[in-house]
Amino acid sequence: MAILTNILILGAGYAGLRAAKVLAQQKLDAAITLIDRNRYHYETTSLPEVAAGTRRAQSVILPLPENLPAQVNFIQATVTKIDRASKQVDLADGQQLTYNYLVVALGLESETYGIPGADEFALPIVDVKSALAVKKHLEGRFQNYQASQDPDDLRVIVCGAWFSSFEFMGALVNRLPKLAEHYHVPLDKIEIQCIEAKDMILPMFDDELTDYVKHWLSDHNVTLRTGTPIKEVQANKVITEEQTYTANTLIWTTGVSGSHVIGDSDFESRRNRVMVSDELSLEDDPQVFLLGDVAAVRQPGKPYPFPATGQIAFQMADAAAANIAADLKGAPRQDFVFNDLGTVLALGSKDGVAKIFGDHKLRGYKAAFMKRVIDDRSLLKQVGVKALVKYGRIPL
Ligand SMILES: Cc1cc2nc3c(=O)[nH]c(=O)nc-3n(C[C@H](O)[C@H](O)[C@H](O)COP(=O)(O)OP(=O)(O)OC[C@H]3O[C@@H](n4cnc5c(N)ncnc54)[C@H](O)[C@@H]3O)c2cc1C
Repeated sequence: MAILTNILILGAGYAGLRAAKVLAQQKLDAAITLIDRNRYHYETTSLPEVAAGTRRAQSVILPLPENLPAQVNFIQATVTKIDRASKQVDLADGQQLTYNYLVVALGLESETYGIPGADEFALPIVDVKSALAVKKHLEGRFQNYQASQDPDDLRVIVCGAWFSSFEFMGALVNRLPKLAEHYHVPLDKIEIQCIEAKDMILPMFDDELTDYVKHWLSDHNVTLRTGTPIKEVQANKVITEEQTYTANTLIWTTGVSGSHVIGDSDFESRRNRVMVSDELSLEDDPQVFLLGDVAAVRQPGKPYPFPATGQIAFQMADAAAANIAADLKGAPRQDFVFNDLGTVLALGSKDGVAKIFGDHKLRGYKAAFMKRVIDDRSLLKQVGVKALVKYGRIPL
């Protein structure tokens, strides 16, 4: 009996899940195995709402393996290391798996840039567990206020003005009236501020859309402090050069790096992102593909790679799966071409900004609506209508 080609996919996020699905559709003479530490896929782009408590965690996750094509074998395990020399992947439970083709799609981790105390005292929003931890912490502080009357219980500092910082603040602003009512705290005493090192925010938008976001924040009593590098974080304190800010909820959203598994394995990387060829594999190891947030893809005409987003992770998966299928069918590989459909930033459920289809701009409700359409469309493409109907119906 001929030995099947072994395709191992690490991570069932946007990139990994999509790659598994597209490879399964190709009806290849290959064994496809998908590995994730969770028994579910989650929509990372909806985590800010989960953290703010405006969306239930159950509604952003999709159980695995029941929503996978029959051709895909699922293993729930944590990947610890990739050994390319022996074409082997180490799992935390001591198992080792071998591969002919490897698709690394292990996604993102919180980046603290070595700022002392950030890991210890501030809460990141990077997966379902961390988003739920933020929600629980926030509610705990509001609940505590009645007894403590400590103004810091009602203060939230968001460290970093990254994309997800705004989405979190937008969702939180939406929730505040109900939260204040539920915990009997004065709405006008709740303070949200965002502290950012750079002067510029949201480089993907022009001044008009950026100003829209700034005005929205100030209209909703959110203080944005740009040009204010954070030197250190301590328990309930954010220390900058000029001042120390206090709050009993500190959120860390300054940006992300790729999975630490990349750094722990033999890859050349920058912030755990590996430069891939135009075919999305390694120049010196073409049967190893890296997708999504662990990959850096050359951006034509620019000195820096494409920014890591859900949209590009998804499209990379399509291209990588097509190239693996091409290899197995003896066809030529194609270079990856990114089709930029635009960027949408939601400020809660009713507001936001978007730049779509080139330079077409949206503001307000239309942008927030567009964000929901994109999330649903992405999920629809991942798992089909049947699963979409079921989506959100499982206990975590
Ligand atoms: C809070 C937040 C909001 C965002 N909002 C947007 C947005 O609105 N629009 C946008 O385009 N982009 C957004 N992004 C960026 C976008 O989410 C990422 O670019 C995208 O998720 C990358 O997809 P991925 O498949 O590479 O990784 P992920 O989606 O991170 O998936 C990685 C998968 O690997 C699994 N995994 C990780 N480590 C291990 C391990 N060691 N062993 C086994 N399994 C493992 C994880 O469980 C996960 O399922 C946001 C990011 C964050 C953090």
